[in-house]
Amino acid sequence: MSSELHIYNTHKREKEKFEPLNAPHVGLYVCGPTVYSEPHIGNVRTFSSFDVIYRYLVHLGYKVRYVRNITDAGHLTNAAGEGVNRMESAAKLESLEPMEVVQKYTTNFHDIMNLFNAKPPSIEPTATGHIIEQIEMIEKLIENGFAYEVEGSVYFDVTSYNKKYPYGELSGRKIEDLVAGYRDLDGQDEKRNTIDFALWKKASPEHIMQWRSPWGMGFPGWHLECSVMSTKYLGQSFDIHGGGMDLKFPHHECEIAQNKGTYNEGGARYWMHTNMLNFNGQKMSKSLGNAILPMEFVTGTHELLDKGYHPSVIRLLFLQTHYSSELDINIKGLQDAEKAWKKLFESKGHLASLVGSAKTPTETSGKISALCKGCTDNMNDDFNSAKTLANLFELSGIINSLKGGQTTLDQVQVSDIELLTTTFNNFLLDIFGLQEPQQASSNDKLDDVMNVIISLRKQARDNKDWATSDKIRDELQAAGIQIKDGKDGEVSFSVD
Ligand code: AMP
Ligand code: ZN
Repeated sequence: MSSELHIYNTHKREKEKFEPLNAPHVGLYVCGPTVYSEPHIGNVRTFSSFDVIYRYLVHLGYKVRYVRNITDAGHLTNAAGEGVNRMESAAKLESLEPMEVVQKYTTNFHDIMNLFNAKPPSIEPTATGHIIEQIEMIEKLIENGFAYEVEGSVYFDVTSYNKKYPYGELSGRKIEDLVAGYRDLDGQDEKRNTIDFALWKKASPEHIMQWRSPWGMGFPGWHLECSVMSTKYLGQSFDIHGGGMDLKFPHHECEIAQNKGTYNEGGARYWMHTNMLNFNGQKMSKSLGNAILPMEFVTGTHELLDKGYHPSVIRLLFLQTHYSSELDINIKGLQDAEKAWKKLFESKGHLASLVGSAKTPTETSGKISALCKGCTDNMNDDFNSAKTLANLFELSGIINSLKGGQTTLDQVQVSDIELLTTTFNNFLLDIFGLQEPQQASSNDKLDDVMNVIISLRKQARDNKDWATSDKIRDELQAAGIQIKDGKDGEVSFSVD
């Protein structure tokens, strides 16, 4: 546990103290979606993880430029960067223009991110908006001897690069193993080596998305856009680059190679990889056919779900597991997360009524302040939201026992309640991005309204205005609300 932020850098394979290049500014790049179909709940996990990382960096006071791209040039389906253009397949299937597909699914992606209360990035650049910059990077790579042209396509020359820089440094893969592991793939005949990857592909005349280049009409390789857009907006060396674990190889490995081959610098100094969401033990993915759409979770329309769950319940479920661990989703987990969500907000709701009853400020209670500080320490320990939540649950237990009278308020100071209020507001709302359960907020309102009515009734009784006090009781009774007068003058109410 630490009072300074430490990040597990997947490039170095160790946790490191986070030292931004130009504090208080931080550059954060996250690989965005390929907008050829709706994101599934696994994609939402990855983007929610980075949303919390972004929110926490902002909470710490950093001025974060958060860049998350939109892959709209249609990236290629296989690891070598060859095969069919996914954007075009979807366009043909739906009889839409490629840019119509892009627009449709970009809007859909934004809607889903909004639904899940994720903050928008500072810049959301598109691959098709950066074709010129991609061509320029390819030209530099050819000039530096790390790329070659064949028949209108350009490939990255992994062998020549590996003589100067270690290819495989991020994923830990060895070039010999990679060569041996490759099967015969489309376009292999024109490449110098099986592991070379496409920077630019020649387009056949019927190919819809194509651009003019020094090598003829064609389209860029997928890995290139992230090298170009991250360095354009954040600099040749910047702070954090993130993405799902499945992008580490080849996508991020190729990005580092492209960056070093062009600028002699690898781009990001801290690499962060979030782990996969599994369903029934299998990675959720469109190609495996086990993808559940976010809206199916919210409406409960998927056959594997018992009912719909609020997006905050799903966010909370994600947060209960560290971002770098796999998460297997199931109904029991969702039900527990729903209870936990309600409990946390119920406790948060009690704080307003406790603050008036606590003692005047002196020292804060050791336990409460230690648990509150622990929330920050846990987040500083590589954004450990799971441990932070454990602290919040413990604090929630303390709040509930204060509210219920099991713990007396003389043991707690006003400053304790204020610290609890700040901690719950910061972590639940600002950092974890959770929304209040509807039920709880309307209950809170009912509490407030009832407190006003009860005090009016007390006033009437103190004035021996029995007619008014009885009228209030009878009319509330007719509305299904029972008022009970306790022995000690305490008045409580219950709803039928
Ligand atoms: P894509 O649109 O397929 O490029 O994916 C967008 C992001 O979602 C990438 O960072 C992927 O690594 C991530 N991703 C894909 N499948 C999953 C999954 N099952 N669980 C978590 N993240 C995923
Ligand atoms: Zn990327």
